Amino acid sequence: MSVRRAEVSDGIGAQLPVFIERADGGILLDVDGNRIIDLASGLGPTSLGASNRRVRERIVAQLDRFTHTCFMTTEYESYVEVCGWLNRNTPGDGEKRTALFTTGAEANENAVKIARYVTGRHKVLAFHGAYHGRTHMTMSLTSKSHPYKTGFGPFSQDVVHAPVPTSPRHDPAALGTFLEQVRASLTANDPASFAAIIIEPILGEAGCLIPVPGFLAGLREIADEFGILLIADEVQSGMGRTGRIWAIEHEGVVPDLLVAAKALANGMPLSSVTGRAELMNAVHPAGLGGTYVGNPLSCEAALAVFEQFDAGGILERAGDLGGIALGMLAPLVGSGHGVIDVRVRGAMIGIEFGDDESLEPSTERARAVTRHCHANGVLALTNGVHENVIRLLPPVVIDPDLFRDGIQVIVDGILAAS
Ligand code: PMP
Repeated sequence: MSVRRAEVSDGIGAQLPVFIERADGGILLDVDGNRIIDLASGLGPTSLGASNRRVRERIVAQLDRFTHTCFMTTEYESYVEVCGWLNRNTPGDGEKRTALFTTGAEANENAVKIARYVTGRHKVLAFHGAYHGRTHMTMSLTSKSHPYKTGFGPFSQDVVHAPVPTSPRHDPAALGTFLEQVRASLTANDPASFAAIIIEPILGEAGCLIPVPGFLAGLREIADEFGILLIADEVQSGMGRTGRIWAIEHEGVVPDLLVAAKALANGMPLSSVTGRAELMNAVHPAGLGGTYVGNPLSCEAALAVFEQFDAGGILERAGDLGGIALGMLAPLVGSGHGVIDVRVRGAMIGIEFGDDESLEPSTERARAVTRHCHANGVLALTNGVHENVIRLLPPVVIDPDLFRDGIQVIVDGILAAS
């Protein structure tokens, strides 16, 4: 038995069990000296590279000052500056406020807490395929049972799931039909008891499913009609990944609460909830918080990320990667190689596998291609409702030629598997 197996809980899995020595710019160097092309960014956070120079500089400088005070006991400026940037750079005009937390799940929990407090209601509408975290409430909001929920119930009785239309090929029913189903899910469960509708503007763990145009705008209307808050979970899709700072901007929709994490601090643990001042200020003082919320090292990392966004070019780079991926992968769809859909929005990419005729999902084909990638030095991860999607979240700063090399390995794997 390896030392890892002897010491670490088997409940913590690993998709590619190699140990990393150094990492940056889209290359992971393992302890045996192997170079692996990184198309996963540590599940999304290290968007500006796993050893971003400016992030390091700011963290090192902060290390010389202090590592922690707890913002709820004594305050520091970086926390306030991070909130200010988010207030200015999230959708919607008017005065906003932000609260910082540590993980994506924790921020989603707090968004639900705020929505419940403000509305005085308790239920939450989430969507099939959604992933919102592994805490009790967010596990309830998450829809996929295995591996996230198996054996961990009971779950919150206050969560209702509705379908989300994601591609005309998969969901031939009209957009209106889906919006009617959302309305029906609310009306069947007393719409006046719903505090929030929570949605990922692109459903990451479901396999980068992109809701059809108009669906998010329709949700906005329904939420307004019933006095429900709309929460955008941008934990995975936010902070430039899709070629806009927030994926919901592609749809021109303004959520009531926007949740960020992952790439917010480029791999340092930090998450946020941003919304209109009257919502974010409604909760009584000390109703929100936690020992580590907005850790000073993480705040410095976020400020380094913001500097690089403000300098320009990041969003364009994400868009360029999307163009490369689409150009190389789109011709495979329906070409007899088991690729039934390719979804690309900037550097958020899903390649879906299944039967070319019936569109029946094929987990085995996705796994075979992933195995080919791993054997050939490319880190690509499978996910999706049926585990039949290869989801790519490359660092936005990856060299385009290196990215092309990585995609070529995937293409070769697809051709070899068919
Ligand atoms: N929401 C979304 C959309 C996510 O993708 C994730 C993580 N994959 C989470 C929430 C949970 O974030 P964390 O793992 O930081 O708790």
